[in-house]
Amino acid sequence: MISARTIISFFLLAILLSCKQTDKITSNTSHDSTQTDSSKQHSLGYIMPGLDHGFEQSPININSNDSSSNNTHKITLYFNDKVNKIENLGHTVQLDFQAGSTITYDDTVFTFKQCHFHTPSEHLIDGITFPMEMHIVNVLTTAPKDKPQYLVIGILFKEGKENAFIKDFLNLIPKETDANVKVKAGTIKLSDLFGTIPKELKNHYFNYKGSLTTPPYTEAVRWFIAKHIFEASAEQIKALNALEGNNARHVQALYGRSVVSN
Ligand SMILES: [Zn+2]
Repeated sequence: MISARTIISFFLLAILLSCKQTDKITSNTSHDSTQTDSSKQHSLGYIMPGLDHGFEQSPININSNDSSSNNTHKITLYFNDKVNKIENLGHTVQLDFQAGSTITYDDTVFTFKQCHFHTPSEHLIDGITFPMEMHIVNVLTTAPKDKPQYLVIGILFKEGKENAFIKDFLNLIPKETDANVKVKAGTIKLSDLFGTIPKELKNHYFNYKGSLTTPPYTEAVRWFIAKHIFEASAEQIKALNALEGNNARHVQALYGRSVVSN
């Protein structure tokens, strides 16, 4: 059934990161960062691992024992089940959303843009890598172009039962790199992922401040990693990995950042 507007509301109790703001260091190059870093390091005459793009980089290893706080943030997710395009970008498989789905963080409204996959996971929980991670990327459309703001929801998958949401699109993904196919709105349903287990999503996130995990690694991302570990079949994970390869960035140092949960 094609769902109309699906609304899931949930509240998140979390604290703002207490660490002080660091000056933003972002790369404005999109070429191989290793070359840039290595030339910088040579000119400086020393090697400082991890400082290539700043002090608030992603992904990270999340220690699940990190403490919670007293501050309250309200997160509300409103999604239309309107994915209208699937792209094989070579380095990832991406589903593009039509306008109309939003997530609010307190009073700030972010707009759903796309979701894409990493195999294996980029974020680790207590040092454990999962076979797959999905990122739902939301942007603040009112932010100036040179100061973008993102909110990304990370969904971790373990091997298990076939996932209905992935089944919606797996056979529709174009096999050729840089190809895309349009899909009828309502064919791919986020409700197939979230609709079945709203209670597990409610108030169960790790939250921290980080960056994009692909160039230009911009440090303007509010990360929310769902504590609930979703399932997908080994065949589904293998099929996505066959298309996008191993595309997880290695974990980055925290540099004093806090991860909060509730
Ligand atoms: Zn990603």
